[in-house]
Amino acid sequence: TVKTRFAPSPTGYLHIGGARTALFCWLYARRHGGRFVLRIEDTDRERSTPEAINAILEGMAWLGLDYDEGPFYQTQRFDRYREVLDRMLAEGTAYRCYCSRQRLEQLREAQLARKEKPRYDGRCRDLDGPPADAEGEPVVRFRQPREGMTVVDDRVKGRVAFQNSELDDLIIARADGTPTYNFVVVVDDMDMAITHVIRGDDHLNNTARQANILQALGVTPPVYAHVPMILDEHGKKLSKRTGAASVMDYRDQGFLPEAVVNYLVRLGWAHGDQEIFTLDEMVEHFDIGDINHSASSLNPSKLEWLNQHYLKTLPPAHVARHLAWHLGALGIDPTEGPDLEAIVAAQAERSRTLVEMAENSRFFFREPEGYDEKAARKHLGEGSAPVLAALRLALGTLESWTAEAIHAAVQGVADEQDLKLGKVAQPLRVAVSGGPVSPPIDVTLALLGRESTLRRIEAAEA
Ligand code: GLU
Repeated sequence: TVKTRFAPSPTGYLHIGGARTALFCWLYARRHGGRFVLRIEDTDRERSTPEAINAILEGMAWLGLDYDEGPFYQTQRFDRYREVLDRMLAEGTAYRCYCSRQRLEQLREAQLARKEKPRYDGRCRDLDGPPADAEGEPVVRFRQPREGMTVVDDRVKGRVAFQNSELDDLIIARADGTPTYNFVVVVDDMDMAITHVIRGDDHLNNTARQANILQALGVTPPVYAHVPMILDEHGKKLSKRTGAASVMDYRDQGFLPEAVVNYLVRLGWAHGDQEIFTLDEMVEHFDIGDINHSASSLNPSKLEWLNQHYLKTLPPAHVARHLAWHLGALGIDPTEGPDLEAIVAAQAERSRTLVEMAENSRFFFREPEGYDEKAARKHLGEGSAPVLAALRLALGTLESWTAEAIHAAVQGVADEQDLKLGKVAQPLRVAVSGGPVSPPIDVTLALLGRESTLRRIEAAEA
């Protein structure tokens, strides 16, 4: 059965490229009824932090990428790495290397001077024991086959061939006994029975080494698929400074996870010209063969467009849960106001993000602390007093507080004062919301409730 893994190094937040890799791995596993593994590659103890681990777990949960196995932590598997290392030493597919740092540096300089690619010359490859001049503990190197070629049939990049003579005898354990990166990846991919490695193409150069070590362990290497990177909207390399590169930044900026997942899947994968995908559709159609062969660029306006689509089309109850989070972020208790689902229904059309929706819905929970200056000058100045007074009277005596009844009352005041509806609705809107934009006034007042509406009109009259 298909088994994929997402293997982040916890050295920072879950960035957009990592999240896309995770999504592709997740989709591929789901598509084939397989399993998806989360593996935290935390062997770099200097740079790995618990905060970064949490950020990864939080990001995965927020995106809805559930895993069937894990999270595994490489730092908890050192005994196992030791075991495989001993096996390779015993079988001769690895050997101890006693060369001093000084010798390796001299070697390197000499090779560079001859314009050769620096590589280990294999002096310790065939030793029977430590040489007489050995100092300190040896490192362990992989006995890289010297002859022939290593061919990786990458599902995205195509056939990638490496001359084995070009590949170094890689250090797989340091002098202090700790295993190195390429080695632990290999042991894990073997032990976890990974069938498909989908990852960023910055790892393409590791692939031949990893495949060779797997072969030395008697294991058929997995299928590799190296995904081109993501560039910023100007086609430049993504950096931490390039806006929202972390998945949680997208949450904070008011995007729904559904929109972000849809955005991510299209960054480097296409199914015809379809832009909008439900999760089920992604699972149904996702295939490695359709991953783009060139880098893709961020497209913030597309993300906004997708977000708007999902704000309007997802069940309001679902959007309401996210809106509650954003209201909370504004210091508002989302339970102390009108029904959130009704607010979502009223606001969905006019919000690009949840942040915008929350900010524009603040007045449902708090009386306006002041009025938008321009709107107040225009709508609450001289002449608004009789309108507001008439509205207060008409609304105060309404029999039922429904949008229909409110609409009729506001229309009635306009007729009675011989004004266009807008000349009545706008002062009312500024009075209750503090600004010139809100959902339709009847819907707005229906949500606000009679008491709060009357109090606000009164405050605006003062
Ligand atoms: N830990 C690596 C990274 O975060 C990924 C390694 C892999 O997928 O093989 O870049």
